[in-house]
Amino acid sequence: MKPFPRAEISRCALQSNLAQLRLIAPNSKVMAVVKANGYGHGLLNVAESVGKYNGGADGFGLARLEEALQLRDGGVKGKLLLLEGFFRQSDLPILVTHNIDTVVHHESQLQMLETVSLDQPVTVWIKIDTGMHRLGFSLAQFDDVYQRLQACPQVAKPIHFMTHFACADEPDNQLTQLQIDAFERKIKSLEGDCTLANSAGTLFWPSSQADWIRPGIALYGVSPLAGDKGSNHKLVPAMELVSNLIAVREHKAGDSVGYGAFWTAKKDTRLGVVAIGYGDGYPRNAPEGTPVWINGRRVPIVGRVSMDMLTVDLGADAQDNVGDNVQLWGKALAVEEVAEYIGTIAYELVTKLTPRVLVELL
Ligand code: PLP
Repeated sequence: MKPFPRAEISRCALQSNLAQLRLIAPNSKVMAVVKANGYGHGLLNVAESVGKYNGGADGFGLARLEEALQLRDGGVKGKLLLLEGFFRQSDLPILVTHNIDTVVHHESQLQMLETVSLDQPVTVWIKIDTGMHRLGFSLAQFDDVYQRLQACPQVAKPIHFMTHFACADEPDNQLTQLQIDAFERKIKSLEGDCTLANSAGTLFWPSSQADWIRPGIALYGVSPLAGDKGSNHKLVPAMELVSNLIAVREHKAGDSVGYGAFWTAKKDTRLGVVAIGYGDGYPRNAPEGTPVWINGRRVPIVGRVSMDMLTVDLGADAQDNVGDNVQLWGKALAVEEVAEYIGTIAYELVTKLTPRVLVELL
């Protein structure tokens, strides 16, 4: 039996999703967003699966410098962009040495760029705040910021531009179109590449695709839209979270199970104990009825999820045995649907797995 729990990552699914995104945005380069350990799929697993040498992604988007350095250490050669930017002046020579681009979104970064001395200029992407109001220079600040960076010898030319959407996963929300329009008005006569679209922008706002798309969740086969599934966009789930039954027990009507004696069987049944819990990143707050997939059918979680285990109601006539595989999410059970049961988003489920889960590239 293989070690469990495991997150099985499908190289084919990642490559097929990248190909599908290229079909959806045929005129854009792809910056695959692989921050947070490749959304829990393994940073190098994803980079290796969709790297340039497979005719794949044109670059990778990371949140932090450490993530970008891990990619370089792993031999990844393509364009890397720090989406959160740098924080210390001492980061700048490291960016230059490793040929890493950075977003610039704050006055403190401008001042560091204006005062640092570098062997070579660093490539920067100005983040324009067109409505997300989290990171970025306001539309009013932009012209001044652009002039200052243009005048800065430590900054490579041309300068590039980006923005990030607040509501692109709501296809009826007009804020996205306002953001696209504001961005285009600001950069229309400027040289340099532009990127606006995350997965939702790529899928639902084609006019935002521009020079580069920045898909994260869609690359992993998951839809960014509530109530939707990746399969509706010909995307294939790249992760299957699997574990095994470690006990099958006869359970009498009236008996409770687990911490807090939280659930009581209404009739005689068989309970399965699955080796996965919140210590592995499976959410403790998964309510009764959240499905798992065993031997070709869905069965509901009953009782509280504990640190290493959860219990499922297999039914009175169940034929399941100790050692049988259990899928928590994957091809048979969409992670989007599991997330809905739990009251969260698929992004959180896949990124929250703990190091105890073996991440295996297949
Ligand atoms: N671009 C930026 C700046 C982000 O922060 C993210 C993710 O949060 C992405 C792109 C990718 O987003 P998504 O996973 O929704 O495609």
